[in-house]
Amino acid sequence: MVFNMPELIVCSRCGFIFYEGNDLLPPETVAKRYNYRCPRCLAVLKIKPLNMKIAPMRNRR
Ligand SMILES: [Zn+2]
Repeated sequence: MVFNMPELIVCSRCGFIFYEGNDLLPPETVAKRYNYRCPRCLAVLKIKPLNMKIAPMRNRR
């Protein structure tokens, strides 16, 4: 059984959702789309502390 977990990239400061979907985009691409700045809290986006959550696949051996 295979099912895709959606990727969720949120602002680590205010929780603004930058990207939510089934395509695994690199966080840099998403950050670039917003000119490396959160439209809500105007925090400057850096790739390293960018809060990126991907649900892990389980039962993988
Ligand atoms: Zn923000």
